[in-house]
Amino acid sequence: MALKITDYRTDVHNDWCPGCGDFGILSALQMTLTEMQASPSQTAVISGIGCSGKTPHFINAYGVHTLHGRVLPFAQGVKLANPNLNVIAVGGDGDGLGIGAGHFVGAGRRNIDFPYIIFDNGVYGLTKGQASPTLHLNEQTKSLPQPNINEAINPLLLAYAAGFTFIARGYAYDLKHLKDLMKRAILHNGFALLDVLQPCPTYNDINTKEWYSGEDHLDQASQKPMPRVYKLEETGYDPVVHTDDPAEHEKKVNQLTLRALEWGDKIPIGIFYQNERTPTYTERILHRIPDYLKVPPCHQPIMNGEGAPLANVSKLIEDMQVT
Ligand code: SF4
Ligand code: MG
Repeated sequence: MALKITDYRTDVHNDWCPGCGDFGILSALQMTLTEMQASPSQTAVISGIGCSGKTPHFINAYGVHTLHGRVLPFAQGVKLANPNLNVIAVGGDGDGLGIGAGHFVGAGRRNIDFPYIIFDNGVYGLTKGQASPTLHLNEQTKSLPQPNINEAINPLLLAYAAGFTFIARGYAYDLKHLKDLMKRAILHNGFALLDVLQPCPTYNDINTKEWYSGEDHLDQASQKPMPRVYKLEETGYDPVVHTDDPAEHEKKVNQLTLRALEWGDKIPIGIFYQNERTPTYTERILHRIPDYLKVPPCHQPIMNGEGAPLANVSKLIEDMQVT
């Protein structure tokens, strides 16, 4: 029997603020899982700490709400132990690009095969709206006593530098587009970043829904709002690296850089870069352990009938000893 969107919901009370962009991201993820008919028993949503960290509680699947900044180590461990599981990592910009930035870079180098969805609102919403790593220099939201003294991180460029092979940006209030991006990120063979612009109506009074819709940015002639967010694919942009030719790669990186730096009156969303020509971490492991996918760690016995561990650590130490 086909799974319905209600099959991906839970009855856990949701205490996100009214109008929060988190609701859009949660709905888009539930729509994506429904469209893909992803089995809840084969899906694991892993989160860090923050408002967005509560997401696994609201999705009927396996889920772990981990520590601040530790979503990626945990999600990588889950995926490595059970490579057949549909793993989805979620978390905030403060969580993933502040305390978790080292893990963001480390995981990028591995090109491990799952998507990481960042709920990007420019603030630490759960702790009263301090400036997060994606708030721009000199911006002063209503929760800050003084303008932000730090430059912002560009998650898209950081992702490329770290080694992510799918780099995309969505918008929390364009559900259908976001759902399509989530599906592409899940289907991508490799590590995928999906940075989602998400208004926080409680603490960020700069990057609001009205600001993204251009309500302060009127067309001179018609006096109609000119939305800041536009879709890359509607401009003929092709993010895919099609060949191993260095010239092709250079072209794709140059266009990624130019579009990722656009901000202000024009903000692109869509897929900026996709390269499935880089081996995934699974493929790298298979070179060393050919039966890894047949007998992944999650299917290996770890103790005997009496509960004693089966691993012979003394033998392992002996084998690895350098003489
Ligand atoms: Fe959403 Fe901001 Fe409220 Fe957190 S504080 S639930 S991000 S509106
Ligand atoms: Mg945040």
